Amino acid sequence: MRTLDTPATNCPACGKMLDACTNLQDAELPEPGDVSICLGCASLLIFTAPPQFRLATPEEAQELANHPQVAQVIKAVLGGKAKQ
Ligand SMILES: [Zn+2]
Repeated sequence: MRTLDTPATNCPACGKMLDACTNLQDAELPEPGDVSICLGCASLLIFTAPPQFRLATPEEAQELANHPQVAQVIKAVLGGKAKQ
């Protein structure tokens, strides 16, 4: 797992400035089609031309929510916010 600094972009859902991403699988930079999760609102984001991304469609979000690692990160983000 490695955190990489990326040029700042804003979450299309909550507007949070995102200027880094952590790759859970390897240390590579994100590629188009890779999935990201906003640390502000836990929205599922799909990289288009990294670091640019778009919101996942409802169909994509439903499919991704079944992925154990994605579900775990969403839970961690939402859990972290609940403690604030
Ligand atoms: Zn967000």
